[in-house]
Amino acid sequence: MATPQKINTKVGKLFRVSTAKLLIPMPDRYIVVLGSLLSGIGKGIVSSSITKTLSFYGLNVMPLKFDGYLNYDCGTMNPLKHGEVFVLDDKSEVDMDFGTYERFLNKSLNSSFSLTGGKLFSEIVARERRGEFLGSDVQIIPHLTDMIVRKLVEVRRANDLDALLIEVGGTVGDIENSYFIEAMRELAMKNRVVFVAVTYVPELGVVGEQKTKPTQLGLRSLMQLGIQPDFIVTRSEKKLDSKAREKIALFGNLGPDRIIDNHDLDNIYSAPLEFVRMGFGDKLISELGIEARTPDQKMIDNWRRSIIEIGNGNGKRKVKIIVVGKYVKLHDAYVSVKEALHHASIANGVHPEIEWLDSEELEGIDAAEIAKRLAGSHGILVPGGFGNRGIEGMISAIKYARERNVPYLGICLGMQLMAIEFARNVAGLKDAHSSEFAPNTANKVIHIMEEQKGISDKGGTMRLGAWPALLKSGTRIRSAYGAERISERHRHRYEFNNSYRDGLEGMGLTISGTTPDGKLVEFIEWKNALGIATQSHPELKSRPEAPAPMFVEFVRMAKDLAHGSS
Ligand code: GLN
Repeated sequence: MATPQKINTKVGKLFRVSTAKLLIPMPDRYIVVLGSLLSGIGKGIVSSSITKTLSFYGLNVMPLKFDGYLNYDCGTMNPLKHGEVFVLDDKSEVDMDFGTYERFLNKSLNSSFSLTGGKLFSEIVARERRGEFLGSDVQIIPHLTDMIVRKLVEVRRANDLDALLIEVGGTVGDIENSYFIEAMRELAMKNRVVFVAVTYVPELGVVGEQKTKPTQLGLRSLMQLGIQPDFIVTRSEKKLDSKAREKIALFGNLGPDRIIDNHDLDNIYSAPLEFVRMGFGDKLISELGIEARTPDQKMIDNWRRSIIEIGNGNGKRKVKIIVVGKYVKLHDAYVSVKEALHHASIANGVHPEIEWLDSEELEGIDAAEIAKRLAGSHGILVPGGFGNRGIEGMISAIKYARERNVPYLGICLGMQLMAIEFARNVAGLKDAHSSEFAPNTANKVIHIMEEQKGISDKGGTMRLGAWPALLKSGTRIRSAYGAERISERHRHRYEFNNSYRDGLEGMGLTISGTTPDGKLVEFIEWKNALGIATQSHPELKSRPEAPAPMFVEFVRMAKDLAHGSS
């Protein structure tokens, strides 16, 4: 029923409240999150936090993301421009927001939760070619928008969700997402849709006055598209002041209680706790037409416990980790690595001081200078990467770690280079390399798989997604996982060359895990030093509530070096 309270606070939606919502007995429920001013203000975190908040109330809500670019997926994008490419179990290469979703929810998503302009357009053109629209002009409205609405309904139903949250990438006013926003308006005509506009409130001047004009303009563009937000989430540096709140409420046709203050927090993971505390969870539930209920205190306490120390190193013992990589200028390129280091540090009761070092800085200098540059580190990590730049610098860092007994973690490229360094400096194969970087070298310790050789397409053609592995008993990695059969996600083309297995094992490089058929090397470790590495990307599955075992073991070794074994 349209309660008097709703009418007071939601001037703009009387029509929907009094007709559509009453006529549909069991409506499909959706939450649509839009950025109404500029991108990069944390819309993904707001979406994840809303989803997590509703999970505390026992509701099954999952996030779907739309991105307007015409790439089919994120696999071909440059991490320096777009941040990390995230990989799901089912091989899809998706936006880094999926990492945020999975970390918050502690659940794995699949490709049906990722829509892009590229996917939508290729599907509509394929359907046209199949003759599905014979006789008509195929148009954005209604053909594409209908297809979008149908897809969303399918995802909600296939996963039996209490509600599907849809995050619209980009901002209102972009050409790339305009048709998608139109589809959201159409979705709301037949379903119960809660619109959440995320906006930015800047502060100006020495006194830091919060300015609402940009938000007013952003809201106007949204309303011009026929969408009245139900809630406005404000992102600002400091707490939203009451004057700014009143103003935004007035321009948003909303009561001030529907303006949700989401100012910067020390710890992003605490946003769901704030949403519960502020009553945003209760309000969302009521707006979705679900009967009032109380959140599960045990779930809330669990979440608080697993995240509470992130971002807060006060009084904690520190470990210094140096990440030696190629894309260090943009931390977003390694966001999952950074998060996994934090999760593992909480598990070890320490605080990570992470230094990002461009591996090229270690090139063209001698061993003494390299040692000076890496001195004081309790752990060295070489993450994933592609291309030649900075490779020799990474190899030098690995050599330093092995020779000085500093804990080392190698991820994907970091494992390949660990094998190369070992082959060169321990086994004496001076020209050992990867065929990715030195196609003509005699000793290709890392090479391309036979099956991959003929592939020229660049999209979706790597070894991708979840792969099982068997771990060898008695190894450091096996004890880190505490299980023989495990599964991690992959994204790479090159592999450890099996012809070098026996030779390198004989010299002290342990093959700690392979694919179950024994054909592909997945994990290696040093017998006489503190290095562990994997061809996979364990950081992609690390979550506050389930830290990645490889990272937990690495930080444990770093803690022992820094503070002695406990
Ligand atoms: N460039 C390497 C390969 O393709 C490593 C990839 C990675 O680190 N993700 O095998």
